Amino acid sequence: MVWPCPLTVDAYVAAGREVEFPRPDCPACAGPMMFWSGYRRHVRAAGRCRKIFVPRLRCAPCRVSHALLPAFTLAWRLDVAETVGMVIAEVAGGARGARPAAARAGVPYTTARGWVRRFAGRAPELGVAFAALAVELGGQVIGPAADAGGFALAAVGAAFAAAACLPGWPAVGAWRFASSVSGGRLIAARSQSRRPAPAATHNRGHHQDLPERERPTLPTHVQIAQPLTPAQPQVNVCIGCAPSDSEAPSSNGPPGT
Ligand SMILES: [Zn+2]
Repeated sequence: MVWPCPLTVDAYVAAGREVEFPRPDCPACAGPMMFWSGYRRHVRAAGRCRKIFVPRLRCAPCRVSHALLPAFTLAWRLDVAETVGMVIAEVAGGARGARPAAARAGVPYTTARGWVRRFAGRAPELGVAFAALAVELGGQVIGPAADAGGFALAAVGAAFAAAACLPGWPAVGAWRFASSVSGGRLIAARSQSRRPAPAATHNRGHHQDLPERERPTLPTHVQIAQPLTPAQPQVNVCIGCAPSDSEAPSSNGPPGT
């Protein structure tokens, strides 16, 4: 799950476990969840790697836990959403190529190229989903463009422009918004998990290793009217904690496991 955290990375790091984390209800049963341990994971912002604390929430009846990622992260990505978004916007928007965009962002070229490719691969569906979200929020109607990447980019912009009329969202920013409403999966693999999904977890219902059919890939099923309260965007996904980028902090399960 991703919450629309408005804090800077520095402020988030400084606050540690004292961040005022929201406590959303269980996405599966809508019951209350309890904070349940957490883990640390790396985040790179402005060329600097930091370690952040990511709490977990657990639903007792469902017997599953959910990581609660701040919106400046993207699932399994080391770099913050703003960095990823800036590179994508520059390349998909045609301002510069992936190599200069990577240099400007201070990230490896191959990393930036990977983001751009993934975004391009998902651009048609992202464009449709964000365009629909923009309309749902009373925003501008964006029609498909000849260039899928440009369309997706415009749709993200239109959806955020509409969301920015709602309380809380302007401070979050466009790319954190995009991370929030996509459950952190803006540029996640569409059709396959990067991690093995233990079969055992499927029988327990909702879990971080969701069966394919439960993995939302479109951001339109979310409610984003109350961004900064415990009533979080309803993102029916538990973001795992095994970034595919070079450093991969593993998740700590609940105490004793
Ligand atoms: Zn539940």
